[in-house]
Amino acid sequence: MAVRIVVSGATGRMGGQLGRLARATDDLELVGGIAPDQRPVDSPYPTVLPAESAAALLADCDVLIDFSAPAHIASLLRAHAETLAGRAIVIGTTGLDDAARSAIDDAAARSAVLVAANFSVGVNLLLELTRRAARALGSTGYDVEIVEAHHRHKADAPSGTALALGRAVADGRGIPLEQVRRDGRTGVGGERPRGEIAFHALRGGEIVGEHEVRFIGASERVTLAHVASDRALFAEGALRAARWLAGRDSGSYTMSDVLGLGD
Ligand code: NAD
Repeated sequence: MAVRIVVSGATGRMGGQLGRLARATDDLELVGGIAPDQRPVDSPYPTVLPAESAAALLADCDVLIDFSAPAHIASLLRAHAETLAGRAIVIGTTGLDDAARSAIDDAAARSAVLVAANFSVGVNLLLELTRRAARALGSTGYDVEIVEAHHRHKADAPSGTALALGRAVADGRGIPLEQVRRDGRTGVGGERPRGEIAFHALRGGEIVGEHEVRFIGASERVTLAHVASDRALFAEGALRAARWLAGRDSGSYTMSDVLGLGD
């Protein structure tokens, strides 16, 4: 039986990709979309409704997929908490604030929930490789600089993926990222402190997404990198996650679970 999906952020770049791919796939059924703006004439969605009118759509789906904006998540999940109980939720929106994170944690008590800053197989593999490299290379002998590049429309910086990579380094080193995080170096003089994990964000044109983790030692450098060249990659990964998550027990899941990565 087809997995029935509703997409929040249906009128956006990712929402468009998700809708077109889901329409072209037999094992998924596109119930409808959620967005504050009007349904474009060429929309792949049979209907697009604002969140406050979306209860009936949500009651008719197996999985809600959200690629919208951080400010939208908490109100969507809280306003429809009862309807969403027992249905799966996939969240790809990045730059999540505390209100969004707390609403997601509450939703995970009633639904199977998967949050991923990046749905590509390659980036999730890169996260695991980065964790292992950080563990193997140690905390102080190698300076870690994370460089990311994205299109000029992107709202958050550094990207959610860059932060996830930073967290993977911190995990591998056994320390919280917040203790050693550095954003850019403008106005920061003096020698680079050992153990710092630094982020640098480039923005321009229509770059889909590039990430590079540099481990810079005194006499050698290790660089792990990923380049995305088509945003359909993220939509395909999110739909794969939706198929995998449908019908699972409540709780929090990761793309590593979906892809069978990890130790
Ligand atoms: P976009 O600006 O093209 O689309 C955003 C969508 O959300 C639109 O439909 C818009 O109407 C809706 N929206 C915006 N603000 C809203 C609000 N307050 N209430 C309700 N709906 C609202 O953005 P995009 O490029 O499609 O990206 C959407 C999100 O997905 C961003 O957070 C982006 O960083 C993230 N993203 C994640 C991945 C991943 O793999 N996890 C990949 C690409 C993009």
